[in-house]
Amino acid sequence: MEKFDAIIIGTGQAGPSMAAKCASEGLKTAVIEKGKFGGTCVNNGCTPTKTMVASARAAHVARRGAEFGVIINGDISVDMKLVKARKDAIVSKSNKGVENWMKSTKNITVFEGHARFENNNTINVNGKLLTADKIFINVGGKARIPKDYEGIDVLTNANIMDLDYVPEHLIVVGGSYIGLEFGQMFRRFGSKVTIIERGDRLVKREDSDVSEGIKDILEQEDIQFRLGATCLKGKMENGKVVVDVDCDKGDRRVEGSHLLLAIGRVPNTGDLGLENTDIKVNDRGFIEVNDELKTNVEGIWALGDCNGQGAFTHTAYNDFEIVAANLFDNDPRRVSDRIPCYGLYIDPALGRIGMTEEQVRASGKKALITTRTMQRISRAREKGEANGFMKILVDAETKRILGASILGIEGDEIIHSLLDIMYADMPYTVISRAVHIHPTVSELIPTALHDLKPLE
Ligand SMILES: Cc1cc2nc3c(=O)[nH]c(=O)nc-3n(C[C@H](O)[C@H](O)[C@H](O)COP(=O)(O)OP(=O)(O)OC[C@H]3O[C@@H](n4cnc5c(N)ncnc54)[C@H](O)[C@@H]3O)c2cc1C
Repeated sequence: MEKFDAIIIGTGQAGPSMAAKCASEGLKTAVIEKGKFGGTCVNNGCTPTKTMVASARAAHVARRGAEFGVIINGDISVDMKLVKARKDAIVSKSNKGVENWMKSTKNITVFEGHARFENNNTINVNGKLLTADKIFINVGGKARIPKDYEGIDVLTNANIMDLDYVPEHLIVVGGSYIGLEFGQMFRRFGSKVTIIERGDRLVKREDSDVSEGIKDILEQEDIQFRLGATCLKGKMENGKVVVDVDCDKGDRRVEGSHLLLAIGRVPNTGDLGLENTDIKVNDRGFIEVNDELKTNVEGIWALGDCNGQGAFTHTAYNDFEIVAANLFDNDPRRVSDRIPCYGLYIDPALGRIGMTEEQVRASGKKALITTRTMQRISRAREKGEANGFMKILVDAETKRILGASILGIEGDEIIHSLLDIMYADMPYTVISRAVHIHPTVSELIPTALHDLKPLE
Protein backbone atom coordinates (compact mmCIF):
# COMPACT_ATOMS: atom_id res chain seq x y z
CA MET A 1 0.00 0.00 0.00
CA GLU A 2 1.50 3.35 -1.03
CA LYS A 3 0.34 6.39 0.90
CA PHE A 4 -0.23 9.70 -0.92
CA ASP A 5 -1.71 13.00 0.26
CA ALA A 6 -3.92 13.25 -2.82
CA ILE A 7 -5.06 10.90 -5.58
CA ILE A 8 -6.55 12.18 -8.83
CA ILE A 9 -8.42 9.67 -11.01
CA GLY A 10 -8.63 10.81 -14.65
CA THR A 11 -6.77 13.46 -16.58
CA GLY A 12 -9.68 15.22 -18.28
CA GLN A 13 -10.37 18.89 -17.88
CA ALA A 14 -10.24 19.14 -14.08
CA GLY A 15 -7.80 16.41 -13.04
CA PRO A 16 -4.49 17.76 -14.35
CA SER A 17 -5.03 21.25 -12.92
CA MET A 18 -6.16 19.74 -9.63
CA ALA A 19 -3.04 17.55 -9.56
CA ALA A 20 -0.76 20.48 -10.35
CA LYS A 21 -2.42 22.59 -7.65
CA CYS A 22 -2.09 19.82 -5.04
CA ALA A 23 1.54 19.30 -6.03
CA SER A 24 2.28 23.02 -5.83
CA GLU A 25 0.82 23.02 -2.32
CA GLY A 26 3.42 20.40 -1.41
CA LEU A 27 1.06 17.39 -1.40
CA LYS A 28 2.44 14.04 -2.50
CA THR A 29 0.07 13.46 -5.42
CA ALA A 30 -0.83 10.39 -7.49
CA VAL A 31 -2.44 10.78 -10.91
CA ILE A 32 -4.14 7.77 -12.51
CA GLU A 33 -5.12 7.64 -16.18
CA LYS A 34 -6.42 4.57 -17.99
CA GLY A 35 -6.59 6.02 -21.48
CA LYS A 36 -5.19 8.99 -23.32
CA PHE A 37 -3.97 11.95 -21.29
CA GLY A 38 -6.28 14.94 -21.67
CA GLY A 39 -9.51 12.91 -21.69
CA THR A 40 -12.49 13.46 -23.95
CA CYS A 41 -12.12 17.12 -24.86
CA VAL A 42 -8.55 16.76 -26.04
CA ASN A 43 -8.75 13.34 -27.71
CA ASN A 44 -12.28 12.81 -29.02
CA GLY A 45 -14.34 15.84 -28.06
CA CYS A 46 -13.85 19.57 -28.41
CA THR A 47 -10.38 19.74 -29.96
CA PRO A 48 -10.72 17.19 -32.76
CA THR A 49 -14.31 18.17 -33.58
CA LYS A 50 -13.55 21.87 -33.85
CA THR A 51 -10.44 21.06 -35.91
CA MET A 52 -12.57 19.00 -38.28
CA VAL A 53 -15.35 21.61 -38.28
CA ALA A 54 -12.66 24.03 -39.52
CA SER A 55 -11.72 21.66 -42.37
CA ALA A 56 -15.40 21.23 -43.24
CA ARG A 57 -15.86 25.00 -43.27
CA ALA A 58 -12.88 25.40 -45.61
CA ALA A 59 -14.56 22.98 -48.04
CA HIS A 60 -17.87 24.84 -47.71
CA VAL A 61 -16.33 28.26 -48.31
CA ALA A 62 -14.39 26.90 -51.28
CA ARG A 63 -17.62 25.59 -52.82
CA ARG A 64 -19.24 29.00 -52.32
CA GLY A 65 -16.26 30.78 -53.90
CA ALA A 66 -18.15 31.91 -57.01
CA GLU A 67 -20.62 33.86 -54.84
CA PHE A 68 -17.68 36.00 -53.77
CA GLY A 69 -16.22 36.25 -57.26
CA VAL A 70 -13.58 33.64 -56.61
CA ILE A 71 -13.47 31.11 -59.41
CA ILE A 72 -11.91 27.74 -58.67
CA ASN A 73 -11.16 25.78 -61.81
CA GLY A 74 -11.64 22.09 -61.25
CA ASP A 75 -13.40 20.02 -58.63
CA ILE A 76 -13.30 20.72 -54.94
CA SER A 77 -12.70 17.50 -53.10
CA VAL A 78 -11.90 16.57 -49.55
CA ASP A 79 -9.02 14.24 -48.72
CA MET A 80 -10.02 12.70 -45.39
CA LYS A 81 -6.50 11.35 -44.87
CA LEU A 82 -5.25 14.94 -44.82
CA VAL A 83 -8.18 16.15 -42.69
CA LYS A 84 -7.37 13.40 -40.21
CA ALA A 85 -3.64 14.11 -40.28
CA ARG A 86 -4.26 17.79 -39.47
CA LYS A 87 -6.62 16.80 -36.67
CA ASP A 88 -4.19 14.17 -35.31
CA ALA A 89 -1.33 16.68 -35.24
CA ILE A 90 -3.35 19.23 -33.25
CA VAL A 91 -4.75 16.60 -30.87
CA SER A 92 -1.38 14.98 -30.32
CA LYS A 93 0.16 18.30 -29.28
CA SER A 94 -2.44 18.77 -26.54
CA ASN A 95 -2.43 15.12 -25.48
CA LYS A 96 1.37 15.00 -25.22
CA GLY A 97 1.32 18.40 -23.50
CA VAL A 98 -0.90 17.07 -20.69
CA GLU A 99 1.11 13.86 -20.40
CA ASN A 100 4.46 15.68 -20.21
CA TRP A 101 3.02 18.20 -17.75
CA MET A 102 1.88 15.47 -15.37
CA LYS A 103 5.02 13.36 -15.74
CA SER A 104 7.41 16.26 -15.23
CA THR A 105 5.71 18.01 -12.29
CA LYS A 106 7.44 17.77 -8.94
CA ASN A 107 5.45 15.86 -6.28
CA ILE A 108 3.33 14.05 -8.93
CA THR A 109 3.58 10.30 -9.60
CA VAL A 110 1.69 9.08 -12.66
CA PHE A 111 0.06 5.64 -12.82
CA GLU A 112 -1.19 4.42 -16.19
CA GLY A 113 -4.03 1.98 -15.66
CA HIS A 114 -7.63 1.53 -14.59
CA ALA A 115 -8.42 2.83 -11.10
CA ARG A 116 -10.91 0.93 -8.94
CA PHE A 117 -11.93 1.70 -5.39
CA GLU A 118 -11.29 -1.12 -2.92
CA ASN A 119 -12.91 0.89 -0.14
CA ASN A 120 -13.49 4.57 0.71
CA ASN A 121 -9.80 5.50 0.69
CA THR A 122 -7.98 2.74 -1.15
CA ILE A 123 -7.57 2.58 -4.91
CA ASN A 124 -6.32 -0.38 -6.88
CA VAL A 125 -4.42 0.36 -10.06
CA ASN A 126 -2.71 -2.47 -11.94
CA GLY A 127 -2.79 -4.52 -8.71
CA LYS A 128 -1.04 -1.77 -6.74
CA LEU A 129 -2.88 -0.28 -3.77
CA LEU A 130 -2.81 3.47 -3.20
CA THR A 131 -4.36 5.41 -0.37
CA ALA A 132 -4.85 9.11 0.39
CA ASP A 133 -6.90 11.39 2.61
CA LYS A 134 -7.97 13.39 -0.42
CA ILE A 135 -9.32 11.70 -3.56
CA PHE A 136 -10.53 13.63 -6.61
CA ILE A 137 -12.62 11.72 -9.14
CA ASN A 138 -12.50 13.12 -12.68
CA VAL A 139 -13.46 10.12 -14.78
CA GLY A 140 -15.68 11.84 -17.37
CA GLY A 141 -18.12 9.99 -19.60
CA LYS A 142 -18.58 8.03 -22.81
CA ALA A 143 -21.14 7.66 -25.58
CA ARG A 144 -24.31 5.77 -24.69
CA ILE A 145 -24.79 2.72 -26.95
CA PRO A 146 -28.12 0.95 -26.42
CA LYS A 147 -28.66 -2.69 -27.40
CA ASP A 148 -30.97 -1.70 -30.27
CA TYR A 149 -28.03 -1.43 -32.67
CA GLU A 150 -26.32 -4.80 -32.11
CA GLY A 151 -24.73 -6.24 -35.24
CA ILE A 152 -23.77 -2.83 -36.60
CA ASP A 153 -20.27 -1.40 -36.36
CA VAL A 154 -21.64 1.78 -34.88
CA LEU A 155 -19.65 4.97 -34.94
CA THR A 156 -19.42 7.15 -31.85
CA ASN A 157 -17.71 10.47 -31.25
CA ALA A 158 -14.53 8.47 -30.55
CA ASN A 159 -14.11 6.13 -33.54
CA ILE A 160 -15.66 8.47 -36.13
CA MET A 161 -12.52 10.55 -35.64
CA ASP A 162 -10.47 7.68 -37.11
CA LEU A 163 -12.25 7.60 -40.48
CA ASP A 164 -9.83 8.41 -43.26
CA TYR A 165 -12.45 8.26 -45.99
CA VAL A 166 -15.79 9.97 -46.59
CA PRO A 167 -18.77 7.70 -45.80
CA GLU A 168 -21.25 7.49 -48.65
CA HIS A 169 -24.35 8.00 -46.51
CA LEU A 170 -23.95 8.78 -42.83
CA ILE A 171 -27.02 8.19 -40.69
CA VAL A 172 -26.83 10.13 -37.45
CA VAL A 173 -29.13 9.03 -34.65
CA GLY A 174 -29.51 11.97 -32.25
CA GLY A 175 -30.34 15.54 -33.20
CA SER A 176 -28.48 17.34 -30.47
CA TYR A 177 -25.04 18.97 -30.15
CA ILE A 178 -22.76 16.09 -31.08
CA GLY A 179 -24.98 14.67 -33.82
CA LEU A 180 -25.51 18.04 -35.47
CA GLU A 181 -21.85 18.99 -35.43
CA PHE A 182 -20.80 15.69 -37.02
CA GLY A 183 -23.78 15.73 -39.39
CA GLN A 184 -22.95 19.10 -40.90
CA MET A 185 -19.22 18.34 -40.90
CA PHE A 186 -19.59 15.09 -42.89
CA ARG A 187 -22.12 16.66 -45.24
CA ARG A 188 -19.50 19.28 -46.03
CA PHE A 189 -16.87 16.56 -46.48
CA GLY A 190 -19.17 15.07 -49.13
CA SER A 191 -21.33 12.44 -47.40
CA LYS A 192 -25.06 12.23 -47.82
CA VAL A 193 -26.36 12.80 -44.27
CA THR A 194 -29.65 11.88 -42.59
CA ILE A 195 -30.22 12.94 -39.01
CA ILE A 196 -32.80 10.96 -37.06
CA GLU A 197 -34.23 12.40 -33.88
CA ARG A 198 -36.76 10.92 -31.48
CA GLY A 199 -38.13 14.34 -30.43
CA ASP A 200 -40.34 16.44 -32.65
CA ARG A 201 -37.59 19.03 -33.04
CA LEU A 202 -33.81 19.30 -32.88
CA VAL A 203 -31.95 20.21 -29.65
CA LYS A 204 -35.03 20.11 -27.50
CA ARG A 205 -33.46 21.92 -24.58
CA GLU A 206 -33.35 25.06 -26.75
CA ASP A 207 -36.32 27.25 -27.64
CA SER A 208 -38.32 26.11 -30.64
CA ASP A 209 -37.26 29.13 -32.74
CA VAL A 210 -33.63 28.17 -32.13
CA SER A 211 -34.37 24.56 -33.12
CA GLU A 212 -36.07 25.82 -36.29
CA GLY A 213 -33.20 28.19 -37.07
CA ILE A 214 -30.68 25.36 -36.78
CA LYS A 215 -32.79 23.05 -38.94
CA ASP A 216 -33.14 25.74 -41.57
CA ILE A 217 -29.36 26.26 -41.74
CA LEU A 218 -28.72 22.53 -42.08
CA GLU A 219 -31.47 22.03 -44.65
CA GLN A 220 -29.83 24.67 -46.83
CA GLU A 221 -26.96 22.19 -47.06
CA ASP A 222 -29.24 19.31 -48.05
CA ILE A 223 -29.09 17.44 -44.77
CA GLN A 224 -32.15 15.22 -44.44
CA PHE A 225 -34.13 14.95 -41.21
CA ARG A 226 -36.44 12.36 -39.70
CA LEU A 227 -37.95 13.89 -36.58
CA GLY A 228 -40.40 12.27 -34.20
CA ALA A 229 -38.81 8.87 -34.83
CA THR A 230 -40.49 6.60 -32.31
CA CYS A 231 -39.32 2.99 -32.51
CA LEU A 232 -35.66 3.46 -33.23
CA LYS A 233 -33.79 0.23 -34.00
CA GLY A 234 -30.90 -0.62 -36.31
CA LYS A 235 -29.65 -3.66 -38.22
CA MET A 236 -27.44 -4.64 -41.17
CA GLU A 237 -29.18 -5.74 -44.39
CA ASN A 238 -27.22 -6.67 -47.51
CA GLY A 239 -24.22 -4.71 -46.32
CA LYS A 240 -26.29 -1.60 -45.60
CA VAL A 241 -27.15 0.00 -42.30
CA VAL A 242 -30.91 0.09 -41.86
CA VAL A 243 -32.55 2.14 -39.14
CA ASP A 244 -36.26 1.66 -38.46
CA VAL A 245 -37.74 5.02 -37.61
CA ASP A 246 -41.45 4.36 -37.62
CA CYS A 247 -42.31 7.98 -38.24
CA ASP A 248 -45.87 9.09 -38.76
CA LYS A 249 -45.26 9.86 -42.38
CA GLY A 250 -42.84 8.90 -45.11
CA ASP A 251 -40.68 5.80 -45.30
CA ARG A 252 -40.47 3.83 -42.12
CA ARG A 253 -36.79 3.10 -42.49
CA VAL A 254 -33.63 4.89 -43.47
CA GLU A 255 -30.83 3.09 -45.30
CA GLY A 256 -27.26 4.26 -45.28
CA SER A 257 -23.64 3.15 -45.31
CA HIS A 258 -22.60 4.20 -41.76
CA LEU A 259 -24.30 4.91 -38.47
CA LEU A 260 -23.23 7.47 -35.88
CA LEU A 261 -24.89 7.18 -32.48
CA ALA A 262 -25.09 10.52 -30.71
CA ILE A 263 -27.87 9.89 -28.22
CA GLY A 264 -26.30 11.03 -25.02
CA ARG A 265 -23.44 10.21 -22.73
CA VAL A 266 -23.05 8.11 -19.61
CA PRO A 267 -20.57 8.73 -16.77
CA ASN A 268 -17.56 6.40 -16.41
CA THR A 269 -18.65 5.34 -12.95
CA GLY A 270 -19.85 1.79 -13.64
CA ASP A 271 -16.37 0.23 -13.47
CA LEU A 272 -14.86 2.42 -10.76
CA GLY A 273 -15.54 0.05 -7.86
CA LEU A 274 -17.97 2.51 -6.28
CA GLU A 275 -19.96 -0.42 -4.97
CA ASN A 276 -17.05 -1.01 -2.55
CA THR A 277 -17.49 2.49 -1.11
CA ASP A 278 -20.17 4.62 0.53
CA ILE A 279 -20.07 7.15 -2.33
CA LYS A 280 -23.59 7.91 -3.51
CA VAL A 281 -24.48 7.89 -7.21
CA ASN A 282 -27.84 8.84 -8.66
CA ASP A 283 -30.02 6.58 -10.82
CA ARG A 284 -28.16 7.71 -13.96
CA GLY A 285 -24.75 6.84 -12.52
CA PHE A 286 -23.65 10.42 -11.76
CA ILE A 287 -21.76 10.88 -8.49
CA GLU A 288 -23.78 13.02 -6.09
CA VAL A 289 -22.01 16.17 -4.93
CA ASN A 290 -22.84 19.30 -2.95
CA ASP A 291 -22.32 22.92 -4.03
CA GLU A 292 -18.57 22.60 -3.29
CA LEU A 293 -18.36 19.33 -5.26
CA LYS A 294 -17.80 17.20 -2.15
CA THR A 295 -19.29 13.72 -2.28
CA ASN A 296 -21.08 12.36 0.77
CA VAL A 297 -17.80 10.71 1.83
CA GLU A 298 -15.38 12.99 3.67
CA GLY A 299 -12.20 13.66 1.65
CA ILE A 300 -13.65 12.64 -1.75
CA TRP A 301 -14.66 15.09 -4.44
CA ALA A 302 -16.12 14.48 -7.92
CA LEU A 303 -15.31 16.91 -10.71
CA GLY A 304 -16.34 17.26 -14.36
CA ASP A 305 -18.88 15.29 -16.38
CA CYS A 306 -19.08 12.44 -13.85
CA ASN A 307 -20.89 14.64 -11.29
CA GLY A 308 -23.78 15.60 -13.60
CA GLN A 309 -23.38 19.30 -12.78
CA GLY A 310 -22.15 20.20 -16.24
CA ALA A 311 -21.20 18.52 -19.49
CA PHE A 312 -18.63 20.89 -20.83
CA THR A 313 -14.93 21.55 -20.67
CA HIS A 314 -15.47 24.95 -19.10
CA THR A 315 -17.72 23.49 -16.38
CA ALA A 316 -15.17 20.73 -15.64
CA TYR A 317 -12.39 23.30 -15.39
CA ASN A 318 -14.59 25.53 -13.23
CA ASP A 319 -15.12 22.51 -10.96
CA PHE A 320 -11.35 22.43 -10.41
CA GLU A 321 -11.37 26.17 -9.64
CA ILE A 322 -14.18 25.74 -7.11
CA VAL A 323 -12.55 22.81 -5.30
CA ALA A 324 -9.10 24.44 -5.28
CA ALA A 325 -10.49 27.78 -4.05
CA ASN A 326 -12.30 26.16 -1.14
CA LEU A 327 -9.53 23.76 -0.25
CA PHE A 328 -6.44 25.90 -0.55
CA ASP A 329 -7.37 29.57 -0.90
CA ASN A 330 -10.10 30.08 1.70
CA ASP A 331 -12.28 31.36 -1.15
CA PRO A 332 -15.88 30.07 -0.84
CA ARG A 333 -16.67 29.52 -4.53
CA ARG A 334 -19.79 27.50 -5.36
CA VAL A 335 -21.25 25.62 -8.34
CA SER A 336 -24.40 27.69 -7.94
CA ASP A 337 -22.36 30.85 -8.76
CA ARG A 338 -22.02 29.53 -12.29
CA ILE A 339 -24.18 30.97 -15.08
CA PRO A 340 -25.08 28.31 -17.68
CA CYS A 341 -23.22 28.94 -20.94
CA TYR A 342 -22.22 26.83 -23.92
CA GLY A 343 -21.80 26.74 -27.67
CA LEU A 344 -23.19 24.44 -30.33
CA TYR A 345 -20.62 24.30 -33.09
CA ILE A 346 -22.49 23.90 -36.27
CA ASP A 347 -21.46 26.66 -38.64
CA PRO A 348 -22.59 29.33 -37.89
CA ALA A 349 -22.47 28.51 -34.19
CA LEU A 350 -25.05 28.93 -31.47
CA GLY A 351 -23.93 30.78 -28.35
CA ARG A 352 -26.18 30.24 -25.32
CA ILE A 353 -26.22 31.78 -21.86
CA GLY A 354 -28.62 31.82 -18.92
CA MET A 355 -32.29 30.96 -19.28
CA THR A 356 -34.18 30.09 -22.45
CA GLU A 357 -37.38 31.93 -23.32
CA GLU A 358 -39.29 28.80 -22.32
CA GLN A 359 -37.61 28.80 -18.88
CA VAL A 360 -38.29 32.50 -18.38
CA ARG A 361 -41.97 31.96 -19.20
CA ALA A 362 -42.15 29.01 -16.82
CA SER A 363 -40.52 31.07 -14.04
CA GLY A 364 -43.39 33.57 -14.15
CA LYS A 365 -40.94 36.50 -14.07
CA LYS A 366 -42.01 39.77 -15.68
CA ALA A 367 -39.62 39.92 -18.59
CA LEU A 368 -38.64 41.84 -21.71
CA ILE A 369 -37.53 40.28 -24.98
CA THR A 370 -35.81 41.41 -28.13
CA THR A 371 -34.95 39.49 -31.29
CA ARG A 372 -32.99 40.47 -34.40
CA THR A 373 -32.19 38.46 -37.50
CA MET A 374 -28.60 38.30 -38.64
CA GLN A 375 -29.82 39.78 -41.92
CA ARG A 376 -29.96 43.10 -40.05
CA ILE A 377 -26.21 43.02 -39.39
CA SER A 378 -24.19 44.63 -42.14
CA ARG A 379 -21.03 42.72 -41.21
CA ALA A 380 -22.88 39.42 -41.56
CA ARG A 381 -24.26 40.44 -44.97
CA GLU A 382 -20.84 41.64 -46.13
CA LYS A 383 -19.36 38.29 -45.15
CA GLY A 384 -22.18 36.51 -46.94
CA GLU A 385 -23.08 34.74 -43.68
CA ALA A 386 -26.41 36.16 -42.58
CA ASN A 387 -28.12 33.00 -41.36
CA GLY A 388 -29.62 32.98 -37.88
CA PHE A 389 -30.82 35.43 -35.27
CA MET A 390 -30.24 36.70 -31.76
CA LYS A 391 -32.66 36.79 -28.86
CA ILE A 392 -32.11 38.43 -25.49
CA LEU A 393 -34.33 38.23 -22.39
CA VAL A 394 -34.22 40.78 -19.59
CA ASP A 395 -35.86 40.93 -16.18
CA ALA A 396 -38.39 43.77 -16.44
CA GLU A 397 -37.92 44.79 -12.80
CA THR A 398 -34.20 44.42 -12.12
CA LYS A 399 -33.11 45.12 -15.74
CA ARG A 400 -30.69 42.17 -15.43
CA ILE A 401 -30.13 39.98 -18.46
CA LEU A 402 -31.81 36.62 -17.89
CA GLY A 403 -30.56 34.78 -20.93
CA ALA A 404 -29.65 34.95 -24.60
CA SER A 405 -29.33 32.82 -27.70
CA ILE A 406 -27.18 33.99 -30.57
CA LEU A 407 -27.36 31.72 -33.59
CA GLY A 408 -25.20 33.19 -36.32
CA ILE A 409 -21.75 34.14 -37.34
CA GLU A 410 -19.52 34.68 -34.27
CA GLY A 411 -22.51 33.87 -32.02
CA ASP A 412 -20.28 31.84 -29.69
CA GLU A 413 -17.89 34.78 -29.29
CA ILE A 414 -20.09 37.87 -29.14
CA ILE A 415 -22.43 36.37 -26.55
CA HIS A 416 -19.65 36.89 -23.99
CA SER A 417 -20.38 40.62 -23.76
CA LEU A 418 -23.82 39.69 -22.40
CA LEU A 419 -22.40 36.96 -20.17
CA ASP A 420 -19.87 39.31 -18.61
CA ILE A 421 -22.60 41.84 -17.77
CA MET A 422 -24.53 39.01 -16.10
CA TYR A 423 -21.48 38.11 -14.01
CA ALA A 424 -20.94 41.79 -13.18
CA ASP A 425 -24.57 41.87 -12.04
CA MET A 426 -25.12 45.12 -13.96
CA PRO A 427 -28.27 46.19 -15.83
CA TYR A 428 -28.59 45.66 -19.59
CA THR A 429 -28.37 49.45 -20.05
CA VAL A 430 -24.60 49.23 -19.56
CA ILE A 431 -24.50 47.54 -22.96
CA SER A 432 -27.36 49.38 -24.63
CA ARG A 433 -25.58 52.70 -23.90
CA ALA A 434 -22.16 51.42 -24.97
CA VAL A 435 -20.71 52.35 -28.34
CA HIS A 436 -19.68 49.26 -30.26
CA ILE A 437 -17.28 49.18 -33.21
CA HIS A 438 -18.70 49.31 -36.73
CA PRO A 439 -18.84 47.03 -38.64
CA THR A 440 -18.95 44.14 -36.21
CA VAL A 441 -21.54 41.55 -35.39
CA SER A 442 -21.42 42.84 -31.79
CA GLU A 443 -22.77 46.22 -32.80
CA LEU A 444 -26.24 44.76 -33.14
CA ILE A 445 -26.42 43.96 -29.43
CA PRO A 446 -26.96 47.54 -28.16
CA THR A 447 -29.39 48.19 -31.02
CA ALA A 448 -31.33 45.04 -30.24
CA LEU A 449 -31.51 46.05 -26.58
CA HIS A 450 -33.05 49.42 -27.55
CA ASP A 451 -35.96 47.44 -28.85
CA LEU A 452 -36.94 45.39 -25.78
CA LYS A 453 -40.65 44.59 -25.60
CA PRO A 454 -42.70 42.95 -22.85
CA LEU A 455 -42.66 39.15 -23.09
CA GLU A 456 -46.29 38.25 -23.60
C1 LIG B 1 -17.85 15.10 -29.69
C2 LIG B 1 -17.76 15.99 -28.48
C3 LIG B 1 -17.59 17.34 -28.65
C4 LIG B 1 -17.50 18.17 -27.54
N1 LIG B 1 -17.34 19.50 -27.74
C5 LIG B 1 -17.28 20.32 -26.68
C6 LIG B 1 -17.11 21.72 -26.86
O1 LIG B 1 -17.03 22.21 -27.97
N2 LIG B 1 -17.06 22.50 -25.75
C7 LIG B 1 -17.15 21.98 -24.50
O2 LIG B 1 -17.08 22.75 -23.54
N3 LIG B 1 -17.31 20.66 -24.31
C8 LIG B 1 -17.38 19.83 -25.36
N4 LIG B 1 -17.54 18.48 -25.15
C9 LIG B 1 -17.65 17.99 -23.77
C10 LIG B 1 -16.25 17.87 -23.12
O3 LIG B 1 -15.42 17.08 -23.91
C11 LIG B 1 -16.42 17.27 -21.75
O4 LIG B 1 -17.38 18.00 -21.03
C12 LIG B 1 -15.11 17.31 -20.98
O5 LIG B 1 -14.11 16.60 -21.65
C13 LIG B 1 -15.35 16.72 -19.59
O6 LIG B 1 -14.14 16.64 -18.96
P1 LIG B 1 -13.95 15.71 -17.72
O7 LIG B 1 -12.73 16.23 -17.08
O8 LIG B 1 -15.16 15.62 -16.90
O9 LIG B 1 -13.72 14.21 -18.28
P2 LIG B 1 -13.02 13.61 -19.53
O10 LIG B 1 -12.45 14.64 -20.42
O11 LIG B 1 -13.96 12.66 -20.15
O12 LIG B 1 -11.78 12.81 -18.91
C14 LIG B 1 -11.93 11.72 -18.07
C15 LIG B 1 -10.64 10.92 -18.02
O13 LIG B 1 -10.74 9.94 -17.02
C16 LIG B 1 -10.14 8.73 -17.47
N5 LIG B 1 -10.74 7.64 -16.72
C17 LIG B 1 -12.05 7.24 -16.71
N6 LIG B 1 -12.24 6.24 -15.86
C18 LIG B 1 -11.03 5.97 -15.31
C19 LIG B 1 -10.57 5.02 -14.39
N7 LIG B 1 -11.40 4.15 -13.81
N8 LIG B 1 -9.25 4.99 -14.08
C20 LIG B 1 -8.40 5.88 -14.63
N9 LIG B 1 -8.78 6.81 -15.53
C21 LIG B 1 -10.07 6.85 -15.86
C22 LIG B 1 -10.51 8.71 -18.96
O14 LIG B 1 -9.64 7.87 -19.66
C23 LIG B 1 -10.35 10.19 -19.31
O15 LIG B 1 -9.03 10.46 -19.72
C24 LIG B 1 -17.59 17.62 -26.24
C25 LIG B 1 -17.75 16.24 -26.06
C26 LIG B 1 -17.84 15.43 -27.17
C27 LIG B 1 -18.02 13.96 -26.95
